[in-house]
Amino acid sequence: MDNFIVSARKYRPATFDTVVGQKALIVTLKNAILTGKLAHAYLFCGPRGVGKTTCARIFAKSINCEHLTPEGEACNECESCRAFNEQRSYNIHELDAASNNSVDDIRELIDQVRIPPQIGRYKVFIIDEVHMLSTAAFNAFLKTLEEPPRHAIFILATTERHKVLPTILSRCQIYDFTRIELNDIVEHLAKVASKEGVTTEEAALHIIAQKADGGMRDALSLFDQMVSYTAGNVTYQGVIGSLNILDYDYYFRFTDLFVEHKISETMLLFDEVLRRGFDGGNFITNLTAHLRDLLVSREPATLPLLEVSTDVRERYREQAQKCSERFLIHAIKLCNDCDLNYRASKNKRLLVELTLIQLSQLTGEGDEIGSGRGPKRLKPLFQKAVAAASTSQPNNSKPAQTAPTAAATPASQPQGTAQQTTPTSTSGTGSPMDRLNLSGTSHKVTTRPIGISLRTGMLRGVQEEKPKSQAASVNVSTSQPVITEDLPVAEDGLRICWKQFATELPKEESAMSGRMMNLRPYLASDTEFTITIDNKLVAQELHTIKPRIENYLRQQMQNSRITMRIILDETQTSHRIYSRVEQYQMLEKRNPSLKKLKELLDLDLE
Ligand SMILES: [Zn+2]
Repeated sequence: MDNFIVSARKYRPATFDTVVGQKALIVTLKNAILTGKLAHAYLFCGPRGVGKTTCARIFAKSINCEHLTPEGEACNECESCRAFNEQRSYNIHELDAASNNSVDDIRELIDQVRIPPQIGRYKVFIIDEVHMLSTAAFNAFLKTLEEPPRHAIFILATTERHKVLPTILSRCQIYDFTRIELNDIVEHLAKVASKEGVTTEEAALHIIAQKADGGMRDALSLFDQMVSYTAGNVTYQGVIGSLNILDYDYYFRFTDLFVEHKISETMLLFDEVLRRGFDGGNFITNLTAHLRDLLVSREPATLPLLEVSTDVRERYREQAQKCSERFLIHAIKLCNDCDLNYRASKNKRLLVELTLIQLSQLTGEGDEIGSGRGPKRLKPLFQKAVAAASTSQPNNSKPAQTAPTAAATPASQPQGTAQQTTPTSTSGTGSPMDRLNLSGTSHKVTTRPIGISLRTGMLRGVQEEKPKSQAASVNVSTSQPVITEDLPVAEDGLRICWKQFATELPKEESAMSGRMMNLRPYLASDTEFTITIDNKLVAQELHTIKPRIENYLRQQMQNSRITMRIILDETQTSHRIYSRVEQYQMLEKRNPSLKKLKELLDLDLE
């Protein structure tokens, strides 16, 4: 059986010229060697597998070479070079700080530093993953780094520069290694493949390079893996099958469906993706990348940003012609929103599906979905409720006794709570139509919170800037929000909106704003929250702006039934909570599950 040497080792570059990527940095290093201006310590930073250690070794060899070429490369023939190449040189010492990070390890190294080289001029000490050294080891090393003997050169390498002590950083010349470009990796893999007699498809190498994310070592070990997996015939299908990557063909198909507004086909195709075991989150990330690639394929100027194999490039160009720039930008925005919300979502599949539906409804013409032969529109789910709301309130001068929200809320709402809300909603005089004009859209259905507003949902993404002005109109707007279904009220959200209201109060009410910031609303029921105040005057003052607060919160939290109860508790002044135990007891009173947690974890109060 042959001795198998992994490609990353077998094809480790032996000269600066064969190092892939890092061109600028290598020029600087070579110049330093040629001019003999060597520093005592270098710090090589950068991601893993991009050639830090390799460059350090080549550098060590070159500065010891007896017959340096005019380009600053080692000759590979002199005694020193041969010793280096055969890994028997005494002029190079490597310490992996990840596993040898104690003071003793460093002392051993320092002992070596004292001894001058027998052959050659310099001894090079490479400390890999230098940020892993213990603090004691760092300190032991610092002295030597400050005043090293003439023959000693240190090359420190790290993937995490921010973890290296500033005292070390300031003593080193710093070189930043960058990720290797995808095309460079592909080219290198192709060379290795031809030397190894392996047949490859360009698209397959692209996938490997993508997966390696700029690291040559990772790319080569993946390549080795693929060679053995595909028995020396590295095909695109073989690679994606083995790496469990979704065929890019799917993204092309999805985009075609979006452009043709085929909603049901999109859903079916997504189902297929899930059934093949792919994760929805990855899918949406890659779909975003695909749309971005389409966008850059539209213009010759941005075409170089497209990192795909030549045969796929043509496909991108073709599909990009079918999509308008507007469509692509909106689509990327939608996907990106989905991506951002994905982790927090409780129903991830639905989130992706909604995004896909919205994508299928984008036309690219702009704000309005094309009429006539445009896409099939899904009927808004809450049309009825809104229609009822607008007919029940034809005249907006009518007093708010029967608030439009009461009509708009589902019939299941208990009568009692509806009555509770009405006396407080003194300011709700605007009709739903007013509110709609305020929001600047001509759409009747604003089921914004649910996100199932299949028509407006898309527009929401596009017109995100507009609702801001609405939110800012706390003190001006008296219109009642069109709330088609009340959303549950969460205490966290309530507090955020509470503070938001306080910050948005005008200057002349800054005293109130300050007081409100110090108060904390607590939910007493599903929709009622309490504010406890220890000062009668403040309580009265708060009472006067109560309708405004309620109105604001109802709008912001999309719940028409929110009410505020002010509790005056003057005893609070005499008993403030100081100690941690008291704090805990109070918290426990509010949340009994804390007690359970305390017992479960067997915690003691101190
Ligand atoms: Zn040499």
